Amino acid sequence: MTERLFHADSYAQACDAIVTRSEPGIIELDRTVFYPTGGGQPGDIGTLILEDGSRLEVTDTIKGDSETIVHRVDAAAPVPGPGTRLRAEIDWPRRHTLMRYHTCLHLLCAVVDAPVTGGKMAVDKAHLDFDIDMDKLVAADIEAALNALIARDQAVETGSISDAELDANPGLVKTMSVQPPRGQGSVRTIRVGDIDYQPCGGTHLRHTREIGTASVVRIRSEGKRNKRVTIVLNR
Ligand SMILES: [Zn+2]
Repeated sequence: MTERLFHADSYAQACDAIVTRSEPGIIELDRTVFYPTGGGQPGDIGTLILEDGSRLEVTDTIKGDSETIVHRVDAAAPVPGPGTRLRAEIDWPRRHTLMRYHTCLHLLCAVVDAPVTGGKMAVDKAHLDFDIDMDKLVAADIEAALNALIARDQAVETGSISDAELDANPGLVKTMSVQPPRGQGSVRTIRVGDIDYQPCGGTHLRHTREIGTASVVRIRSEGKRNKRVTIVLNR
């Protein structure tokens, strides 16, 4: 099991860690600040720095078996063996941009009153898919409402809810395509002021003011139950 430091502090940019398993192209650590691909958020990229100063570039991060996190590196590069101490540093500007997009999608969830059927974010755009009629999605209205919510400058807080509480409140799960992981007794939750509250395992800003301003750049049908709203953030 890899300790997920990004859950306790999404602003942690680096940590010291010990290699627990490695093979060509793959390194697992006892703890990490690298977020693994999941919930529509891409995995972190960054660098692993060994005590002799040599560096391994992490090209992607994914979930491994048994609650581990896999750092993907060049398959041709020699990898350090178990027990090796190193420093793990994420590409922070990239991650912070993803956190801005991710947090903004929580607000978009609150603006559009419809079930979310999917979503994804990148460093230059993000989208949510809604099960809604196209004529109810008006770009200018969504953009104005979204920026009004951002301007309210709400705090973002993490918490947890028990599986039993979640089962009793199924309406909390707004993203139909991403069911929260159950079976560990509780599920991580995110609260954005009084705007949004739902289970989420991603990384978020502390405050919505860091989002900047958002533009709705496209609204398109991606199928009967998928009407896609794409946003771009401006600074
Ligand atoms: Zn989230």
